[in-house]
Amino acid sequence: APRPRIFSGMQPTADSLHLGNYLGALVNWVALQDSHEAIYSVVDLHALTVNPDPGVLLERTRRTAAQYLAAGIDPQRSILFVQSHVAEHAELAWVLSCYTGFGEASRMTQFKDKAARQGTEGANVGLFTYPVLMASDILLYDAALVPVGEDQRQHLEITRDLAQRFNARHGDTFVVPEPHIVRATAKIYDLGDPTAKMGKSTSTATGLVDLLADPAVIAKRIRSAVTDAEREIRFDPEAKPGVSNLLTIHSALSGRSIDQLVEDFTGRGYGDLKKELAEVVLDFVTPFQATVRGYLDDPAELDRVLAVGAERARAIAAPTLATVYERIGL
Ligand code: ADP
Repeated sequence: APRPRIFSGMQPTADSLHLGNYLGALVNWVALQDSHEAIYSVVDLHALTVNPDPGVLLERTRRTAAQYLAAGIDPQRSILFVQSHVAEHAELAWVLSCYTGFGEASRMTQFKDKAARQGTEGANVGLFTYPVLMASDILLYDAALVPVGEDQRQHLEITRDLAQRFNARHGDTFVVPEPHIVRATAKIYDLGDPTAKMGKSTSTATGLVDLLADPAVIAKRIRSAVTDAEREIRFDPEAKPGVSNLLTIHSALSGRSIDQLVEDFTGRGYGDLKKELAEVVLDFVTPFQATVRGYLDDPAELDRVLAVGAERARAIAAPTLATVYERIGL
Protein backbone atom coordinates (compact mmCIF):
# COMPACT_ATOMS: atom_id res chain seq x y z
CA ALA A 1 0.00 0.00 0.00
CA PRO A 2 1.26 3.53 -0.66
CA ARG A 3 2.32 5.44 2.42
CA PRO A 4 -0.29 8.01 3.54
CA ARG A 5 0.65 11.51 2.54
CA ILE A 6 1.26 14.29 5.05
CA PHE A 7 1.86 18.01 4.63
CA SER A 8 3.20 20.50 7.14
CA GLY A 9 4.96 23.86 7.12
CA MET A 10 6.33 26.65 9.26
CA GLN A 11 6.60 30.34 8.59
CA PRO A 12 10.04 31.91 8.18
CA THR A 13 9.31 34.65 10.69
CA ALA A 14 12.37 34.33 12.93
CA ASP A 15 16.12 33.94 12.53
CA SER A 16 15.94 30.81 14.65
CA LEU A 17 13.37 28.18 15.44
CA HIS A 18 12.80 27.62 19.15
CA LEU A 19 12.58 24.52 21.29
CA GLY A 20 8.77 24.53 21.04
CA ASN A 21 8.94 24.44 17.24
CA TYR A 22 11.51 21.67 17.41
CA LEU A 23 9.89 19.38 20.00
CA GLY A 24 6.30 20.23 19.12
CA ALA A 25 6.66 19.96 15.36
CA LEU A 26 10.03 19.11 13.78
CA VAL A 27 10.89 15.98 15.79
CA ASN A 28 7.53 14.63 14.82
CA TRP A 29 8.02 15.54 11.15
CA VAL A 30 11.33 13.70 11.12
CA ALA A 31 9.81 10.56 12.65
CA LEU A 32 6.91 10.55 10.20
CA GLN A 33 9.20 10.34 7.18
CA ASP A 34 9.48 6.55 7.43
CA SER A 35 5.82 5.73 7.62
CA HIS A 36 4.50 8.53 5.41
CA GLU A 37 5.08 10.31 2.15
CA ALA A 38 6.00 13.63 3.72
CA ILE A 39 5.84 17.09 2.17
CA TYR A 40 7.38 19.90 4.23
CA SER A 41 7.33 23.54 3.27
CA VAL A 42 8.82 26.84 4.39
CA VAL A 43 5.65 28.88 4.02
CA ASP A 44 7.02 32.27 3.04
CA LEU A 45 3.74 33.54 1.57
CA HIS A 46 2.21 33.22 5.03
CA ALA A 47 5.09 35.24 6.47
CA LEU A 48 4.15 38.20 4.24
CA THR A 49 1.26 38.86 6.62
CA VAL A 50 3.74 40.53 8.97
CA ASN A 51 5.21 42.69 6.16
CA PRO A 52 8.85 41.69 6.68
CA ASP A 53 11.80 43.50 5.18
CA PRO A 54 12.53 41.71 1.85
CA GLY A 55 16.14 40.85 2.67
CA VAL A 56 15.19 39.62 6.11
CA LEU A 57 12.44 37.40 4.70
CA LEU A 58 14.77 35.82 2.13
CA GLU A 59 17.40 35.16 4.79
CA ARG A 60 14.88 33.68 7.22
CA THR A 61 13.48 31.41 4.52
CA ARG A 62 16.96 29.99 3.95
CA ARG A 63 17.66 29.67 7.65
CA THR A 64 14.37 27.88 8.24
CA ALA A 65 15.09 25.43 5.42
CA ALA A 66 18.60 24.84 6.83
CA GLN A 67 17.09 24.10 10.25
CA TYR A 68 14.64 21.60 8.76
CA LEU A 69 17.57 19.82 7.15
CA ALA A 70 19.70 19.94 10.30
CA ALA A 71 16.81 18.52 12.32
CA GLY A 72 16.76 15.52 10.01
CA ILE A 73 14.28 16.25 7.23
CA ASP A 74 15.70 14.14 4.43
CA PRO A 75 15.15 15.72 1.00
CA GLN A 76 15.68 12.31 -0.65
CA ARG A 77 12.79 10.66 1.15
CA SER A 78 10.59 13.72 1.67
CA ILE A 79 9.71 16.76 -0.38
CA LEU A 80 11.22 19.93 1.07
CA PHE A 81 10.35 23.19 -0.69
CA VAL A 82 9.60 26.89 -0.35
CA GLN A 83 5.90 27.73 -0.74
CA SER A 84 6.31 30.72 -3.08
CA HIS A 85 8.31 28.56 -5.53
CA VAL A 86 5.08 26.69 -6.33
CA ALA A 87 2.60 29.26 -7.68
CA GLU A 88 -0.34 26.86 -7.32
CA HIS A 89 -0.60 27.71 -3.59
CA ALA A 90 -1.60 31.31 -4.29
CA GLU A 91 -3.86 30.30 -7.18
CA LEU A 92 -5.83 27.74 -5.19
CA ALA A 93 -6.06 30.17 -2.27
CA TRP A 94 -7.98 32.63 -4.45
CA VAL A 95 -10.40 29.93 -5.56
CA LEU A 96 -10.99 28.70 -2.00
CA SER A 97 -11.43 32.23 -0.68
CA CYS A 98 -14.53 32.39 -2.86
CA TYR A 99 -15.86 29.35 -1.00
CA THR A 100 -15.13 30.74 2.48
CA GLY A 101 -17.78 32.63 4.40
CA PHE A 102 -16.81 36.03 5.72
CA GLY A 103 -18.34 35.13 9.07
CA GLU A 104 -16.60 31.77 9.05
CA ALA A 105 -13.19 33.40 8.58
CA SER A 106 -14.05 36.05 11.19
CA ARG A 107 -14.45 33.34 13.83
CA MET A 108 -10.85 32.12 13.60
CA THR A 109 -9.36 32.69 17.05
CA GLN A 110 -5.83 33.23 15.76
CA PHE A 111 -7.04 36.13 13.60
CA LYS A 112 -9.07 37.50 16.47
CA ASP A 113 -6.05 37.32 18.80
CA LYS A 114 -3.70 38.98 16.33
CA ALA A 115 -6.25 41.58 15.30
CA ALA A 116 -6.87 42.33 18.97
CA ARG A 117 -3.16 42.96 19.41
CA GLN A 118 -2.78 45.13 16.29
CA GLY A 119 -6.30 46.52 16.13
CA THR A 120 -8.65 45.39 13.34
CA GLU A 121 -7.83 48.55 11.36
CA GLY A 122 -4.12 47.74 11.46
CA ALA A 123 -4.49 44.05 10.57
CA ASN A 124 -4.14 43.28 6.87
CA VAL A 125 -6.47 41.17 4.75
CA GLY A 126 -3.74 38.57 4.32
CA LEU A 127 -3.88 37.87 8.04
CA PHE A 128 -7.63 37.42 7.71
CA THR A 129 -7.41 34.99 4.77
CA TYR A 130 -4.41 33.13 6.23
CA PRO A 131 -6.45 29.97 7.00
CA VAL A 132 -7.57 29.81 3.35
CA LEU A 133 -3.96 29.82 2.16
CA MET A 134 -3.19 27.15 4.73
CA ALA A 135 -6.12 25.07 3.44
CA SER A 136 -4.67 25.40 -0.07
CA ASP A 137 -1.25 24.23 1.13
CA ILE A 138 -2.81 21.04 2.46
CA LEU A 139 -5.45 20.33 -0.17
CA LEU A 140 -3.11 20.76 -3.16
CA TYR A 141 -1.26 17.61 -2.09
CA ASP A 142 -4.17 15.35 -1.13
CA ALA A 143 -2.63 15.15 2.33
CA ALA A 144 -4.44 12.62 4.53
CA LEU A 145 -2.77 13.81 7.72
CA VAL A 146 -1.47 17.14 8.92
CA PRO A 147 0.94 17.16 11.88
CA VAL A 148 0.00 20.32 13.78
CA GLY A 149 0.16 21.70 17.28
CA GLU A 150 -3.00 22.22 19.34
CA ASP A 151 -2.96 25.88 18.30
CA GLN A 152 -3.62 24.96 14.65
CA ARG A 153 -6.59 22.67 15.24
CA GLN A 154 -9.17 25.29 14.26
CA HIS A 155 -7.39 26.05 10.99
CA LEU A 156 -7.42 22.39 10.13
CA GLU A 157 -11.14 22.32 10.84
CA ILE A 158 -11.78 25.06 8.25
CA THR A 159 -9.58 23.15 5.80
CA ARG A 160 -11.81 20.11 6.26
CA ASP A 161 -14.95 22.20 5.86
CA LEU A 162 -13.65 23.76 2.63
CA ALA A 163 -12.70 20.37 1.20
CA GLN A 164 -16.11 18.92 2.02
CA ARG A 165 -17.95 21.95 0.68
CA PHE A 166 -16.02 21.92 -2.59
CA ASN A 167 -16.45 18.16 -2.98
CA ALA A 168 -20.20 18.38 -2.32
CA ARG A 169 -20.61 21.03 -4.99
CA HIS A 170 -18.18 19.81 -7.67
CA GLY A 171 -17.65 16.11 -7.01
CA ASP A 172 -14.84 14.36 -5.17
CA THR A 173 -11.79 16.54 -5.67
CA PHE A 174 -9.99 16.95 -2.36
CA VAL A 175 -8.93 14.48 0.31
CA VAL A 176 -10.39 15.60 3.66
CA PRO A 177 -7.37 15.71 6.01
CA GLU A 178 -7.13 14.62 9.65
CA PRO A 179 -5.02 16.37 12.30
CA HIS A 180 -2.04 14.46 13.68
CA ILE A 181 -1.20 15.76 17.13
CA VAL A 182 1.49 14.25 19.33
CA ARG A 183 0.33 14.55 22.93
CA ALA A 184 3.50 14.46 25.01
CA THR A 185 5.22 17.42 23.39
CA ALA A 186 2.15 19.12 21.89
CA LYS A 187 2.97 22.10 24.06
CA ILE A 188 6.32 23.28 25.36
CA TYR A 189 5.94 26.07 27.87
CA ASP A 190 7.77 29.30 28.39
CA LEU A 191 10.69 28.96 30.84
CA GLY A 192 9.86 32.29 32.48
CA ASP A 193 6.09 31.72 32.61
CA PRO A 194 5.38 27.99 32.50
CA THR A 195 1.65 28.57 32.23
CA ALA A 196 2.12 30.16 28.76
CA LYS A 197 3.36 28.43 25.62
CA MET A 198 6.87 29.09 24.38
CA GLY A 199 6.42 31.32 21.32
CA LYS A 200 8.70 33.60 19.34
CA SER A 201 6.52 36.68 19.75
CA THR A 202 4.78 35.81 23.01
CA SER A 203 7.58 34.57 25.26
CA THR A 204 8.89 36.38 28.32
CA ALA A 205 12.32 38.03 28.10
CA THR A 206 14.14 34.91 29.33
CA GLY A 207 11.54 32.25 28.51
CA LEU A 208 12.47 31.37 24.93
CA VAL A 209 15.11 28.83 23.88
CA ASP A 210 16.19 29.63 20.33
CA LEU A 211 17.99 26.70 18.71
CA LEU A 212 20.55 29.03 17.15
CA ALA A 213 21.17 31.13 20.25
CA ASP A 214 24.55 31.38 21.98
CA PRO A 215 24.86 28.15 24.04
CA ALA A 216 25.86 30.18 27.11
CA VAL A 217 22.61 32.14 26.86
CA ILE A 218 20.61 28.93 26.49
CA ALA A 219 22.25 27.42 29.59
CA LYS A 220 21.59 30.57 31.58
CA ARG A 221 17.91 30.61 30.62
CA ILE A 222 17.48 27.01 31.69
CA ARG A 223 19.25 27.63 34.99
CA SER A 224 16.93 30.57 35.71
CA ALA A 225 13.72 28.80 34.65
CA VAL A 226 10.74 29.51 36.90
CA THR A 227 9.76 26.51 39.04
CA ASP A 228 7.84 26.54 42.35
CA ALA A 229 8.35 26.85 46.11
CA GLU A 230 8.36 23.10 46.78
CA ARG A 231 11.50 21.00 46.59
CA GLU A 232 10.16 17.80 45.15
CA ILE A 233 10.76 16.82 41.53
CA ARG A 234 7.63 15.19 40.21
CA PHE A 235 5.58 15.39 37.03
CA ASP A 236 2.39 17.30 37.70
CA PRO A 237 1.58 19.81 34.93
CA GLU A 238 -1.34 21.31 36.88
CA ALA A 239 0.34 21.92 40.22
CA LYS A 240 3.95 22.09 39.02
CA PRO A 241 3.99 23.47 35.48
CA GLY A 242 7.60 24.69 35.58
CA VAL A 243 9.19 21.45 36.80
CA SER A 244 6.92 19.39 34.54
CA ASN A 245 7.96 21.44 31.52
CA LEU A 246 11.65 20.87 32.34
CA LEU A 247 10.99 17.13 32.64
CA THR A 248 9.09 17.09 29.32
CA ILE A 249 11.96 18.80 27.52
CA HIS A 250 14.55 16.54 29.16
CA SER A 251 12.63 13.40 28.28
CA ALA A 252 12.04 14.46 24.67
CA LEU A 253 15.72 15.22 24.06
CA SER A 254 17.37 12.49 26.15
CA GLY A 255 14.95 9.73 25.24
CA ARG A 256 14.60 8.78 28.92
CA SER A 257 11.03 8.36 30.14
CA ILE A 258 9.57 10.90 32.53
CA ASP A 259 9.06 8.16 35.14
CA GLN A 260 12.70 7.21 34.86
CA LEU A 261 13.79 10.84 35.25
CA VAL A 262 11.58 11.35 38.29
CA GLU A 263 13.11 8.24 39.84
CA ASP A 264 16.67 9.35 39.03
CA PHE A 265 16.06 12.78 40.55
CA THR A 266 14.45 11.53 43.76
CA GLY A 267 15.92 13.43 46.69
CA ARG A 268 17.76 15.89 44.46
CA GLY A 269 17.04 19.60 44.00
CA TYR A 270 15.77 21.73 41.15
CA GLY A 271 19.30 23.06 40.61
CA ASP A 272 20.47 19.56 39.69
CA LEU A 273 17.62 19.08 37.26
CA LYS A 274 18.32 22.40 35.56
CA LYS A 275 22.05 21.72 35.38
CA GLU A 276 21.52 18.33 33.76
CA LEU A 277 18.83 19.69 31.43
CA ALA A 278 21.19 22.45 30.28
CA GLU A 279 23.73 19.75 29.37
CA VAL A 280 21.12 17.71 27.52
CA VAL A 281 19.96 20.76 25.54
CA LEU A 282 23.52 21.83 24.70
CA ASP A 283 24.41 18.30 23.58
CA PHE A 284 21.64 18.63 21.03
CA VAL A 285 22.07 22.27 20.12
CA THR A 286 25.84 22.31 19.56
CA PRO A 287 25.99 19.84 16.64
CA PHE A 288 22.65 21.21 15.34
CA GLN A 289 24.14 24.70 15.06
CA ALA A 290 27.21 23.38 13.27
CA THR A 291 25.05 21.55 10.72
CA VAL A 292 22.91 24.64 10.10
CA ARG A 293 26.08 26.68 9.57
CA GLY A 294 27.26 24.12 7.03
CA TYR A 295 24.11 24.52 4.95
CA LEU A 296 24.19 28.32 5.18
CA ASP A 297 27.84 28.37 4.11
CA ASP A 298 26.95 26.49 0.91
CA PRO A 299 24.14 28.54 -0.68
CA ALA A 300 24.43 26.78 -4.05
CA GLU A 301 23.72 23.40 -2.48
CA LEU A 302 20.80 24.73 -0.46
CA ASP A 303 19.35 26.33 -3.62
CA ARG A 304 19.74 23.04 -5.45
CA VAL A 305 17.93 21.07 -2.74
CA LEU A 306 15.08 23.60 -2.67
CA ALA A 307 14.79 23.70 -6.48
CA VAL A 308 14.47 19.90 -6.63
CA GLY A 309 11.86 20.07 -3.86
CA ALA A 310 9.82 22.72 -5.69
CA GLU A 311 9.91 20.65 -8.87
CA ARG A 312 8.61 17.57 -7.04
CA ALA A 313 5.95 19.59 -5.20
CA ARG A 314 4.75 21.18 -8.43
CA ALA A 315 4.40 17.75 -10.03
CA ILE A 316 1.68 17.00 -7.45
CA ALA A 317 0.16 20.47 -7.06
CA ALA A 318 -0.25 21.35 -10.75
CA PRO A 319 -2.58 18.43 -11.65
CA THR A 320 -4.70 19.14 -8.52
CA LEU A 321 -5.14 22.76 -9.53
CA ALA A 322 -5.88 21.76 -13.15
CA THR A 323 -8.68 19.50 -11.92
CA VAL A 324 -10.07 22.29 -9.72
CA TYR A 325 -10.02 24.77 -12.61
CA GLU A 326 -11.75 22.32 -14.91
CA ARG A 327 -14.47 21.59 -12.34
CA ILE A 328 -15.28 25.24 -11.65
CA GLY A 329 -15.29 26.45 -15.24
CA LEU A 330 -11.91 28.14 -15.55
P1 ADP B 1 5.33 30.55 17.27
O1 ADP B 1 4.23 30.15 18.23
O2 ADP B 1 6.65 30.65 17.93
O3 ADP B 1 4.98 31.78 16.47
P2 ADP B 1 4.61 29.06 14.94
O4 ADP B 1 3.21 29.51 15.16
O5 ADP B 1 5.35 29.60 13.78
O6 ADP B 1 5.46 29.35 16.26
O7 ADP B 1 4.60 27.47 14.94
C1 ADP B 1 5.36 26.64 14.12
C2 ADP B 1 5.11 25.21 14.57
O8 ADP B 1 5.66 24.98 15.85
C3 ADP B 1 3.64 24.81 14.66
O9 ADP B 1 3.49 23.47 14.23
C4 ADP B 1 3.33 24.95 16.13
O10 ADP B 1 2.27 24.12 16.53
C5 ADP B 1 4.66 24.51 16.75
N1 ADP B 1 4.86 25.17 18.04
C6 ADP B 1 5.10 26.48 18.24
N2 ADP B 1 5.26 26.75 19.54
C7 ADP B 1 5.14 25.57 20.20
C8 ADP B 1 5.21 25.17 21.57
N3 ADP B 1 5.45 26.06 22.53
N4 ADP B 1 5.04 23.87 21.87
C9 ADP B 1 4.81 22.96 20.90
N5 ADP B 1 4.73 23.26 19.59
C10 ADP B 1 4.88 24.54 19.22
